[in-house]
Amino acid sequence: MAKIGFIGVGNMGGPMALNLLKAGHSVKVFDLSEAAVQTCVDAGGEAAPSANDAATGVNIVVSMLPKGDHVRGVYLGDNGAIAAASEGTLFIDCSTIDVATAREVSAAASAAGMMMVDAPVSGGVGGAVAGTLTFMVGGPAGAFEAAKPVLEVMGQNIVHTGASGNGQAAKICNNMILGISMIAVSEAFVLGEKLGLEHQTLFDIASTASGQCWSLTSYCPVPGPVPASPANNDYKPGFSAQNMLKDLMLSQEAADGFDASTALGKAATDLYQSYVSGDGEAADFSGIINMIRKN
Ligand code: NAD
Repeated sequence: MAKIGFIGVGNMGGPMALNLLKAGHSVKVFDLSEAAVQTCVDAGGEAAPSANDAATGVNIVVSMLPKGDHVRGVYLGDNGAIAAASEGTLFIDCSTIDVATAREVSAAASAAGMMMVDAPVSGGVGGAVAGTLTFMVGGPAGAFEAAKPVLEVMGQNIVHTGASGNGQAAKICNNMILGISMIAVSEAFVLGEKLGLEHQTLFDIASTASGQCWSLTSYCPVPGPVPASPANNDYKPGFSAQNMLKDLMLSQEAADGFDASTALGKAATDLYQSYVSGDGEAADFSGIINMIRKN
């Protein structure tokens, strides 16, 4: 069993750390929120007084933090986790962050004689609790092989996506497809309403024809056709519009930095920005159909 330091035990990191404890690993946790740490201590974890301490005396460090700045702050510098850890420590950053930061932090880890992977997830809080997350893992093959047994405790589908940063690249490209396709499906339902087409009729046609996609068949933005979709629960998240906006903004940062043309990605980012600044601040991302219907 491994000795693991876990930094950032919020909505996602908390249940992930609990699954590591359940599997018998020893887990030392640090978070700025004492309540979040306490939940892990109650389940058999040890509280660390700082991120550096969580990275000391362990074989593996897992982090699940909000943004690139937090990841940089925790790992880099004289007081960072990389400086505090013993040589050979494996770092697994599961946060969704920008590709450039992921590559910078991995390079710093490698220069200090450590292994590191970026391993962002899909599957949400439900997947974190159930241990069924998908991990998109960027980094050297040796680091991927070392990380895999630990990731398998927290997830079901562990995919090596290539070099450092490529886990983040896979995540933001996938979520750019998702944001664009949700808007496409929503626009089609609103147009159908104006043309007098029943929701179920459009669903039955499009879900078996060339308009078929996940936003339609698994996460339909109108109530009825897919009973488990957030549309049937007043658009409570689910996957929040705020998180969709975050991922779309990361896609646009990457597109600008790497000179990629993403006209629809930009349009989707602008629409989600309007939605989050308006009624969508606390809503599921599929709730964007309500803004489209109003416009
Ligand atoms: P969260 O806000 O619930 O948790 C983040 C935790 O990090 C908080 O408990 C916070 O106190 C802690 N933190 C912040 N700065 C810290 C620091 N310097 N040191 C230690 N702890 C610190 O967020 P979350 O929903 O768990 O998301 C975490 C990451 O997972 C994000 O990058 C998010 O985009 C990604 N993600 C979230 C979901 C989701 O459905 N929530 C799905 C996929 C990916």
